[in-house]
Amino acid sequence: MLEDTDYLVVGAGASGLAFADSLVATADAVEVTIVDTRPAPGGHWLSAYPFVRLHSPSSYYGVNSLPLGEDAIDLVGQNAGYYERATGQEVRDHFEAAAQRLDDTGRARLLAGHEYLGPDSAGERIRHLASGGVTRLKVRRKVVDARYLEGSIPATHAPSFGVAAGARFVPVNDLPAVADSASSYAVIGSGKTAADACIWLLENGTDPDRIRWVRPREAWFYDRRHFQPLAQVGGIVEGLALDAESGAASESVDSLLERLEGCGRLVRIDPSRPAAMFRGTMLSSPELQALREIQDVVRLGHVRRIEPGRILLTHGEIETVRSTVHVDCTALGLSDAPAIPVFQHGLIVLQQVRHLSPCFNAALIGFVESERDDDEEKNRLCPPNPYPQSVEDWPRMTATTWKAEGRWLREPDLAEWIAGCRLNLLGALPDHAGDESVRSAFERYLTNVSAATTQLVSLGRTDEPQRYSTTQ
Ligand SMILES: Cc1cc2nc3c(=O)[nH]c(=O)nc-3n(C[C@H](O)[C@H](O)[C@H](O)COP(=O)(O)OP(=O)(O)OC[C@H]3O[C@@H](n4cnc5c(N)ncnc54)[C@H](O)[C@@H]3O)c2cc1C
Repeated sequence: MLEDTDYLVVGAGASGLAFADSLVATADAVEVTIVDTRPAPGGHWLSAYPFVRLHSPSSYYGVNSLPLGEDAIDLVGQNAGYYERATGQEVRDHFEAAAQRLDDTGRARLLAGHEYLGPDSAGERIRHLASGGVTRLKVRRKVVDARYLEGSIPATHAPSFGVAAGARFVPVNDLPAVADSASSYAVIGSGKTAADACIWLLENGTDPDRIRWVRPREAWFYDRRHFQPLAQVGGIVEGLALDAESGAASESVDSLLERLEGCGRLVRIDPSRPAAMFRGTMLSSPELQALREIQDVVRLGHVRRIEPGRILLTHGEIETVRSTVHVDCTALGLSDAPAIPVFQHGLIVLQQVRHLSPCFNAALIGFVESERDDDEEKNRLCPPNPYPQSVEDWPRMTATTWKAEGRWLREPDLAEWIAGCRLNLLGALPDHAGDESVRSAFERYLTNVSAATTQLVSLGRTDEPQRYSTTQ
C-alpha cells in the first residue's frame, strides 16, 4: 500500500469517482488514493434494487472522461421518446471502467474493502476490512470526504416500524423474487422508490387493483421532459424559463407551487391532495398516468406495525390479507445533511452546488481545486446546496444554483470547462441556440432570472451563509 498520497478520497461512489476523474485530468502530477468499504466502485449502486434505473438520462451521469450509454432515444416503454436511462448494472459497469481508467493513469488507485477511520498523530488511518489491519497514510494535500451525502437506501436501512412474525414483508430489493407468490401488494412509502416499485409491478402485468399504496405523504416530482439533453436540450431551457417566470412572479411558496404545477414543471400523483415532500426526482408523463391507476391509497399517516391481519398506522388501522406482500420503500434516499463549506483546511467535503447534479458537482469541485489556490475563492465558486427534502427548499435550492452559475460565467476558464463537460446537462445549448423555441425560452429565462433570484432568496427558509458552520 502507498504510504503517502496527495489526496485521500473517502468513498468510491459517483461523487468520489467523478471528483478524482476530474482532478486527475486537470491537475499536474497529483496522486490520488480512493478508499471504500464496499468491495467494488459504484457506491450505493452496488446495493440498489434489481429494477433500478437512473431517473435522469445517462447522457450527463457518471464520470466526465467516459460516456455512459450511447445517447440513444428509448423507442418503447414509459420513457419512450426520451434519452436512455442506465440500469443499475450499466451504472456499476461504468464506475468499474472509470476506476480502471484512473488506475491506468498510474496516478490514482482504489482500495476497495478499506474503511477510513480518521486521523491520529501518525496519519490518516485506513482499515483493511478482510484482515483488520490498520495502515496510516500521510496525506500531502487534502482528505476528500465523498461520503458526506451518503444516503439511506433500502438494502441497508432498518424500517422504523415493527413487523410481527407471520406478516409477509420484504425490502424492495426482494420484490421480484416474491412477485410470483403474492396475491396482492402493499407498497409502503411516499417517494421515488415506492413509485418505482409500483411502476415495476404495473409494467410486469399486475392489475392496479392488486396494488395498495400506503402513502403517508404526497410528493412533488419534476416532469422528465424538462431534463432531456442534446437534441432535446430545448426542454431543459423551457424548464429553466418556467422556473424563472414562476419565481419572479410569486410572493409565497404556495403561489410559486401553483405556478410551477400550472405550467407543468412540477407534478403530483393526486392533484387534489396537498403535497409537501420534494426530493428533486422526476417522472415521465406515462409513468404519472400509470401511477394514477392505483386507487387504493392509504393515507392514515406512517406505518407503526404490520401484523398478519392488519396494518397499524399513526392515524388508524386497516385490514390486510395474509398473502399480501408488504414492500418496504421507506428508506430516506438522498441525504438531509446540512450545508457546510466545501473547501476547508486540509479537507474537501463534496456536496451539491448546481442542484441535483451530483456527478457534475463533484467534477466541478475537482476542477476548481486544481485551478484555484484560495479556499475562500473556491468556496465562492462552489456554495453548498443541500438536497431538498420539501417544497420549502425549492426556492433556496434554485436560487443557490443561479447565483453560482452567474459566478461561473464570469470566470473564463471555468466557463470553458463547463461548456465542454459531458456532465453539464446544458452542454448542447450552443448547438441549438438558433432554434426558435430554444431562443425564445432562453430569452424568457434571461428576462426573469435576476428578479426570480431575488424573490426566491426572500422565500427561502434559510439563506446559504446562515447554514455555514466551521465544523464538519
Ligand atoms: C435509487 C437512486 C437513484 C438515483 N438516481 C439518480 C439519477 O438518476 N441521477 C442523479 O443525478 N442522481 C441520482 N441519485 C442520487 C445519487 O445519490 C447519486 O447519483 C450518487 O450515486 C450518490 O453517490 P455518492 O458518491 O455521493 O454516494 P454513495 O453512492 O452513497 O457513495 C458513498 C460511498 O462512501 C463509502 N463510505 C462511507 N463511509 C466510508 C468510510 N468510513 N470509509 C470508506 N468508505 C466509506 C460507502 O461505502 C459508499 O460506497 C439516485 C440515488 C438513488 C438512491
